Amino acid sequence: MEQLRFDGRVAVVTGAGGGLGKAYALLLGARGAKVVVNDLGGARDGVGKSNFADAVVKEIKDKGGIAVADYNNVVEGEKIIKTAIDNFGRIDILINNAGILRDKSFTKMSDQDWDLIHLVHLKGAFKTTHAAWEYFRKQKYGRVIMTSSNAGIFGNFGQANYSAAKLGLVGLANTLAIEGAKYNIKVNTIAPTAASRLTEDILPPEMFEAMKPELVAPVVVYMTHESFPETGAIIDSTLGFATKTHFVRGYGAPLRSKPSDPVTLESVQQHWSKAVNMKDAVHVDKMADVTLDLVEKLQEFQERA
Ligand code: NAD
Repeated sequence: MEQLRFDGRVAVVTGAGGGLGKAYALLLGARGAKVVVNDLGGARDGVGKSNFADAVVKEIKDKGGIAVADYNNVVEGEKIIKTAIDNFGRIDILINNAGILRDKSFTKMSDQDWDLIHLVHLKGAFKTTHAAWEYFRKQKYGRVIMTSSNAGIFGNFGQANYSAAKLGLVGLANTLAIEGAKYNIKVNTIAPTAASRLTEDILPPEMFEAMKPELVAPVVVYMTHESFPETGAIIDSTLGFATKTHFVRGYGAPLRSKPSDPVTLESVQQHWSKAVNMKDAVHVDKMADVTLDLVEKLQEFQERA
């Protein structure tokens, strides 16, 4: 099988000083990409800074790869993209991976816990992607990864701030997948699970040992390859396993017996179980499909009356 290579490509990986981002950066470097290893180097709650991106750059270089360190905060994402342009003259791949945690039950959550999480995850991904976007459009090529989480998609106790930001990233990816389509810019979302400082007190020790970021990295790096076929996908990966998560929409039902009837609280109650029955749910890819589906169903309802 031919090796998937990234020669000539420039990749930015945010939060690549440790954990998952480090594994992505090492793999990209080993496969020929020039890598910007970004990391602010703060603690897991976002406090402080340091240069721990340096060790990852050294590891890439020691193996014959090309990399440069960047210590900017993703909130100033344009500076990170500038590092790629200044050092390598272009940008092709952006993996938005930087992240922190401020877990608290909702009652105890402060404005600061909410704002900081949104700043780093959501605003950070906006800033880096926005700065890279003009290059992607001009060269008609770009690969972007947003990092979500099953905690965001399904909700998780103590993570109201984190889950809101993480599901926000799915919305961002889906819209950018649409806006980027005609420029050959593909935007996909990863919902990873792996051993890192973010999960060391959450995962049981034997699972923590097994869940190596290196088992997720090939999935994410494949998602940044020019041959990757999808855009707007949410990929869930852990332990060398991958699957896809997507939203489904039920068949739905009219909330009155005939078009001339009023919609009342009681008629809503009467038709509710049919309206929310998911037996005939379908996968909806585009907002236009939702509108079309609605128009067709309402037409059918009128004609039946
Ligand atoms: P990690 O703490 O090892 O990595 C995150 C990195 O981001 C750290 O090195 C940190 O210094 C850096 N960072 C934080 N704030 C930054 C900022 N403002 N600017 C630049 N860099 C910053 O944790 P990880 O588990 O490898 O997490 C990577 C991503 O995956 C995060 O977005 C996280 O939310 C997400 N995620 C992880 C898991 C998991 O199981 N590990 C699950 C779901 C989602």
